[in-house]
Amino acid sequence: MTEEKFIHDSHTVLKFIKCYCDNEHFQSEKRTDSIKLNYNDKDLNLEMPYHLCARCEETLLYSYVKLQECPHDEKPSCRKCPKPCYDKPQWKHLAKIMRFSGIRFGILKIKKKIFDRFKKSA
Ligand SMILES: [Zn+2]
Repeated sequence: MTEEKFIHDSHTVLKFIKCYCDNEHFQSEKRTDSIKLNYNDKDLNLEMPYHLCARCEETLLYSYVKLQECPHDEKPSCRKCPKPCYDKPQWKHLAKIMRFSGIRFGILKIKKKIFDRFKKSA
């Protein structure tokens, strides 16, 4: 996938996880940190700051690594991927987050585009 696509998808995942964490884990202790975006061993000179609980941070980092490792030039939606790379429990967990945040955002266009990717085993 292109660097632009990689950057875009990284931020999209963060946005959904953050919405979920802010609403569901507002009582949890949060950590502030950032990811230095790096794709195909290239430093993209971009930081992606986040403020999440430990569980959601783990989910974010997991998704980020999976995105980095995605072997497709033309990244398909994850739902239609011939070789899904997520572990089943992580997949289900992220599907839950996507569903929750998708409803919160109420932005149908984004919801359809992103949420469809994770709907499969929800
Ligand atoms: Zn959280």
